Amino acid sequence: MAKFIFVTGGVSSSLGKGIISASLGKLLKSQGFRVTIQKFDPYINVDPGTLNPYEHGECYVTDDGAETDLDLGHYERFLDITTSRDNNVTAGSIYQTVINKERRGDYLGKTVQVIPHITDEIQRRTYQLAEKGYDIVITEIGGTVGDIESLPFLEAVRQMRMKLGRENCLVIHLTLIVYISAARELKTKPTQHSVKELLQAGIQPDLLVCRTEHPLTEEVRDKLALFCNVERSSVIEAIDVDTIYDVPLHMLKEGLNREVIRKMQLSPPLQEPDLDSWRAFLQKLKNPKHHVRIGLVGKYVELRDAYKSILESFTHAGAQLETQILVDLIHSEELEGLKEEELAQKLGALHGILVAPGFGSRGIEGKIRAVHYARTHNIPFMGICLGMQCAVIEFARNVIGLKDAHSTEIDPLAEHKVIDLMEEQKRITHLGGTMRLGAYECALTPNTRAYEAYSKPLIRERHRHRYEFNNRYRDQFEAHGMRITGINPPTQLVEIIEIPGHPWFVGVQFHPEFTSRAETAHPLFCAFVKAALQHKEQTHPAKA
Ligand code: GLN
Repeated sequence: MAKFIFVTGGVSSSLGKGIISASLGKLLKSQGFRVTIQKFDPYINVDPGTLNPYEHGECYVTDDGAETDLDLGHYERFLDITTSRDNNVTAGSIYQTVINKERRGDYLGKTVQVIPHITDEIQRRTYQLAEKGYDIVITEIGGTVGDIESLPFLEAVRQMRMKLGRENCLVIHLTLIVYISAARELKTKPTQHSVKELLQAGIQPDLLVCRTEHPLTEEVRDKLALFCNVERSSVIEAIDVDTIYDVPLHMLKEGLNREVIRKMQLSPPLQEPDLDSWRAFLQKLKNPKHHVRIGLVGKYVELRDAYKSILESFTHAGAQLETQILVDLIHSEELEGLKEEELAQKLGALHGILVAPGFGSRGIEGKIRAVHYARTHNIPFMGICLGMQCAVIEFARNVIGLKDAHSTEIDPLAEHKVIDLMEEQKRITHLGGTMRLGAYECALTPNTRAYEAYSKPLIRERHRHRYEFNNRYRDQFEAHGMRITGINPPTQLVEIIEIPGHPWFVGVQFHPEFTSRAETAHPLFCAFVKAALQHKEQTHPAKA
């Protein structure tokens, strides 16, 4: 029987519940427990697939093709686990299930209500995940206590605790300890209030994790324990750290896992936390021997969360190669109006250019211009999803000479739709049904950049797109020097393109950023960064 840990947030949003949950999961997993992490999102959207990245940042895609909250990315990157659609539960999906049941008549004429029908469905989702064979299911509850929309989720937790007992159903409250700089004092009152708010929902938290800019003094810890009714040893400090990857070690030092194991009476931990490879990763991350500058061209660059997984993938690859990667976030729309010299100023000093995924036409010509610059100036280039499609369009226009080449998504009237919907997709009218989502196999051609990076003939990578390379143009592309180096075997869809004469020019239809892990950087990102290092060495050789 699994045990359950719920992580709530108080005082303010953005305290890092996802990172705390992932760090606790990491510690418990490293002690031999089978752990997974789930996220409750109290919004009414059924999934974040339809959300603009400006709302909640990137949409993370799981192996089984669920469009999920970006926190699932943290869980996978920290714990090196694979999550699934069961790991993300939104209020929208809960209501949808309940309403569908009601329409089918499953409730036999009963009045359908938040309690018990919505709260039952929330619990059912949690048990359903636990049944996959976990010792511990950690659930992060999105939002902040006191929000109206998170109430049904808290109520579900209250009911579970009643049924299972607190030792089987723990609540950790992540809160902010406010620092008043004029008085140079840490203040606990907002935390006391947020705990009161939880109590109002019938939940006494078992542990407090206290986000703070300054170390908690003994008095502050005493006060928190007394006023919030938690054991003194269960007041855990979460001080600001240099990188999110420091948090597991800090939680270990503060004894978060120890307290959890004690309170839940978890049968003897199989081992002390084994964090050797984590420490090795951090050691390399913090002591780079080289550095490169990479431009990330996208249209959501004001919001780093929109490219979360890509930025984290660079962190992992950078650590593996002991290289600090300075990522310049470049607005694709801005590139559109630049004169040639201005463009050269913006892109010329970069050691690598990555054109990001995306949807819609805003900034697309800027992305195509960035591809053109990388291709014609021999700067290592990586295109992801829309970025790969831009590389195909650029090549079609400027190398093959198909002047009006475009993607059907952007210009449905273009004569040369080099990126297009597949015939079978055209018959589907429901927009959600036409996306290629989740992991698909890709066979790699030997003696290519892709094969060199992965060192194996068959890979699996995650997808999230609607449009594809149009195979009717394949011969023309190959005749002009673009190589198709990865294919999905059953459908023959193009997954990877390369330009052989270029130092490193690779476009992938899939999203490698979703499978990069802290301790195992993604081979394609590593290969790209290596190429960037080489480019740097050639253009600005280090002085002897
Ligand atoms: N908009 C493109 C498509 O639907 C690319 C999607 C993406 O970059 N994730 O095919």
